[in-house]
Formats: sequence, C-alpha cells, structure tokens
Amino acid sequence: MKHITEETIFVERPTIKGMLPAELELVCQQFGQPKYRALQLFDWIYNKKVRSFSAMNNLPADVREQLTQAYLFEVLTLHTTTQSTDGTKKFLFTTIDGKSIETVLIPSEMLEDDGSPRRLTVCISTQVGCPLHCQFCATASIKLKRNLTTAEIIEQFLIAQQHSEHPITNLVFMGMGEPMLNYENVMKSVDILTHPKAELLTSKRITLSTAGIIEGIHRMADEGRSIKLALSLHATTDGMRSSLMPINKKHNLRALGDALEYYYRKTHIPVTFEYILFDQFNDSDEDIKRLAKFTRRVPSKVNVIPFHPIDFTNPEGLAAELRPTTFEKFQLFIAALRRHDVTVMIRTSSGKDIAAACGQLALHTHQDA
Ligand code: SAH
Repeated sequence: MKHITEETIFVERPTIKGMLPAELELVCQQFGQPKYRALQLFDWIYNKKVRSFSAMNNLPADVREQLTQAYLFEVLTLHTTTQSTDGTKKFLFTTIDGKSIETVLIPSEMLEDDGSPRRLTVCISTQVGCPLHCQFCATASIKLKRNLTTAEIIEQFLIAQQHSEHPITNLVFMGMGEPMLNYENVMKSVDILTHPKAELLTSKRITLSTAGIIEGIHRMADEGRSIKLALSLHATTDGMRSSLMPINKKHNLRALGDALEYYYRKTHIPVTFEYILFDQFNDSDEDIKRLAKFTRRVPSKVNVIPFHPIDFTNPEGLAAELRPTTFEKFQLFIAALRRHDVTVMIRTSSGKDIAAACGQLALHTHQDA
C-alpha cells in the first residue's frame, strides 16, 4: 500500500519543466520569492541542465526543499539507449504513467575540422502512438495512447543532450505521433527551447513534419514562429495518397496545396516535401511529372526517402505489399526530378540497424506502450 500511496503523490505533483519565465514567476510568488528567481530557475533547468532542485545553489536551501516537495523535476526515465554503427543513438523512455516513447539523435556524416559532427539532430516524439494509420509507418501499429506533455517533449531534448558530447544543433518533430494533433504542447516546447534566455536552439533549426493537418498549417502560418514546415506527401494523386494515408480523405491534395501556399505567403519560409519511394507504386515517370508540378506551387525542396521496411509490425493489406524502390531506380528518379528543376535532397537511413530510421519507431523492445 505504501508504494501505491507514494506513486499517487508522485503523479499528482505538477512538473517544473514546460513553463515559460512568466509562469515560473508565479511559482516563485507562491513561495514568497522575488520575481528574479524565475530566471534563475529557468537558467538552472535549461542552460545548466541540472537534474534536481538541490543543485540550484543560488536559491535558498529552504526554497529548494519546498520546490522539491511541490514540483516534480524529471518526468521521463531513460529505459534503454541503443547505438547504431553510424553513430545514431536511440533512446527509449518510460513516462510516469508507464508509457514508452522513443527519441533519436542523429549526427551528420559531415564533420567539422575538430571531428565533431556538422549537425547533430534530435528527432522528437510528440504522441504516444499515432491516430493516423499511415500504411508505411511503424508507429501506426501502436494506436494513439495520449499526447505528450510539454515537459515530456522538452525532456527528450534535455536528456538526449546530456548523453551527447556535442551540442544538439537541430530539432525535428519527426518521431512518434502527429505533432499538429498536439499543437499546443508542441508549440509551447518550441517557445521554451527558442527562448532568448535559454539559447538552446533558434527557430530556423526546428522542423515540424506533418501528414497534412490543414488547421495546424494555417495556425502555424498565422502565429509566426518561423519554424520550418515539412509535409509528408508520398503520393501524387488523391487515390494513391488516400490508400497510403487515410488523412488524405479529409484533407486532399488540392486543399493541402492551398494551405501550403497560404503558409508560404505568410511566412516566406520554403517548404520541405517528404517523399518515400515505394517500388512500382509512386516511382513512375508520371509520378515525377506530377510531383514536380505539385511542389512548384511553393518555393520548396523535396526530400526523397528510402522506404524503411516495417515487417516487424506484421503489416497487412497494402502495408504488407510496400517495397523499397531499387537503388538504380532511386537514382534515376532523383535525376529526373532534378531535370524538372526540383531541388532534391536524399534523406539517409541513419539508424536503420537499430530501427531508429524514419517511420521505424514502434518500440520493438517495449510493446506495452
Ligand atoms: N506524423 C508526422 C511526423 C512523424 S513521421 C508526419 O507524418 O510527417 C516522420 C517522417 O518519417 C515522415 O516524413 C514520414 O512520412 C516518414 N516515414 C514514416 N514511415 C516511414 C518508413 N517506413 N520509411 C521511411 N520514412 C517513413
């Protein structure tokens, strides 16, 4: 019984992470402390990255003790870390309510003169599972359990940073879940991570990838945070896209194109299109023409992505038939797109050997999420 009581208290305490300085001022007020302590707290959490209140040695000891009683400090427990031969690291976390989520840290192949990676990108999860049922994505095999809190989103970044000798330079919301369906918490985490007093990241180095939630694209355009937008396109006709991504039945290609034009008009930030190549499904000459035409609606680039098989989720139907395009055809597809004046990038398959590549996050090791 004692254990259950403790656990209940533990869960019911609010967490200190996920608050902007103005909210931390209210916390300080609650303990009769001056407002300037809010920035001290913010500094300890996000710049000095301490892991408990007791380490905050410019705060009076009794305040540290009161904060410890009243607020939870860490909300994620690191369960396992797996390292790929290419340097990619995958972190499996457990939440307070026993759910599992994954975060991936990907060093660029290009190195600086001192041997550090030119870019170190953290790929963050935004939901436990996902409700969208994209046929090619492993996360779809875990139905949506819940949205992650702002604290859980930020802590993925902070813990990944603690496990890296180099500073994280980029963040992509491309882990488990659809970030636009957890809009408030995702954007609050952006506001904290890009806060001038935290200096963790600039908005230019953050990318949000969506399967195409139009309300979210509009909202992001209107709110002007200047983070980048990526759209998981993956097909060039509504019929094909709807069979791959059921969300297309609600927001079709025309509506998506209109939303992206609106986004570009408001932000002037080029859009990234993501396009996974599936053998004999979306890799024909006609696809190349339609893809070039669609992506020309806004200044953009196309990330062509090799399909990472998800056989370990025991796919059925179309999902079981999808195969990666051959290497030769992949190269030809890219060359042809370039001839249509499309800016094309190739997304590498970092972390494939540890199921940490795009779309492979489904908690092999911990299926009870
Ligand atoms: N829900 C968001 C973000 C998560 S998916 C979205 O749909 O964009 C992140 C990226 O991985 C998306 O571009 C997605 O289409 C891609 N992806 C999903 N499954 C994949 C797979 N099996 N192989 C390669 N890329 C995949």
